[in-house]
Amino acid sequence: MTDLWCERAVLPPGAATGVLLEVADGRFTTVRPAERPTEGAERLAGWAVPGFVDTHVHGGGGADYATVDPDEALAARGFHRRHGTTSSFASLVTADLDTLVAQLRTLAPLVHAGELAGVHLEGPFLSPARKGAHTEALLTPPTPAAVDRLLEAADGTLAMVTVAPELPGALETTARLVAAGVAVAIGHTDGDETDVRRALDAGASVATHLFNAMRPIHQREPGPVPVLLDDERAMVELIGDGFHVHPDVVRMAVAAAGLDRVALVTDAMVATGMPDGGYTLGGLDVVVRRGEARLVAEDGSPGSIAGSTLTMAAGFAFLVGIGLSVPGAAWLAASTPARRHGLDGVGVIEVGAAADLCVVDDSGRLSRVLQRGVWVDR
Ligand SMILES: [Zn+2]
Repeated sequence: MTDLWCERAVLPPGAATGVLLEVADGRFTTVRPAERPTEGAERLAGWAVPGFVDTHVHGGGGADYATVDPDEALAARGFHRRHGTTSSFASLVTADLDTLVAQLRTLAPLVHAGELAGVHLEGPFLSPARKGAHTEALLTPPTPAAVDRLLEAADGTLAMVTVAPELPGALETTARLVAAGVAVAIGHTDGDETDVRRALDAGASVATHLFNAMRPIHQREPGPVPVLLDDERAMVELIGDGFHVHPDVVRMAVAAAGLDRVALVTDAMVATGMPDGGYTLGGLDVVVRRGEARLVAEDGSPGSIAGSTLTMAAGFAFLVGIGLSVPGAAWLAASTPARRHGLDGVGVIEVGAAADLCVVDDSGRLSRVLQRGVWVDR
């Protein structure tokens, strides 16, 4: 039993001042106003916000989720936990089917054990024209047989699959995945606004890193972006590092879609939290310079952006730094992705929810992380 008294907290209605939290067995058992700390309660300075929920992340701290070594996956999980991510998907980049099956079988027990909240397949059902840092030769339109194999290997742990909606068979696959309880994300797409509308009609509900790896907006050829910002059925991911998407565009997207339809994601890769240098992503060579990860082109020069080196903590501070309120940033970093993905009992500070919280200051800087009622050693 732990009692925490928060100067300020982000609760479901919004900002609150003077809040007492009681925690037992990893859950909040009391959330109530209290003008001053009760006896024995630990006083938290600054803001208590819901623990961060990252629904698009490939690795970090030198460890990759695309692995058949559960300890490596746990190392990536531990790295991001220290940076505020208390609930996380594990994202896999394009690989051949046998490799993906082996990786899914590695990650599934970690989801069942509660270490991960689900697995996200970013590929192989992507457009070669918008491949980003995915191996072109391994990209393929979806087939029922491939989808069946992936679903079976995941053993109920598949949470999201990114699909380019213009590919042959994409809409049937979308409907099938949604029926199996898997969210379909529109992304790595060269499709237009009509393709996107059809995908939403078929049940797609997420946009994989909006703006990145899709057609840009044009006033006469709008492409995916305006539909995804406008349609209530879609939650859009934004990579909040100021490099993938300009701050002006982040503000515009949040204003257009609203706080309840935008998710902060890291899209972090193995080099996150590591020095600049050479790394790999899905078997492709990546060079990281000043924290920017890019594929190595054939002539050795830096090519396509290859994931990020962002943490949720840095993304949260970025959002506050470009003008979002702390409660607004908390929606994007926790409440919205949790609710939209149906992750019950996380992403919110309320009685019965997992006792996950991050302590941040007025500029959004993270100082402490509580997961399931236990302070994380940072
Ligand atoms: Zn990614």
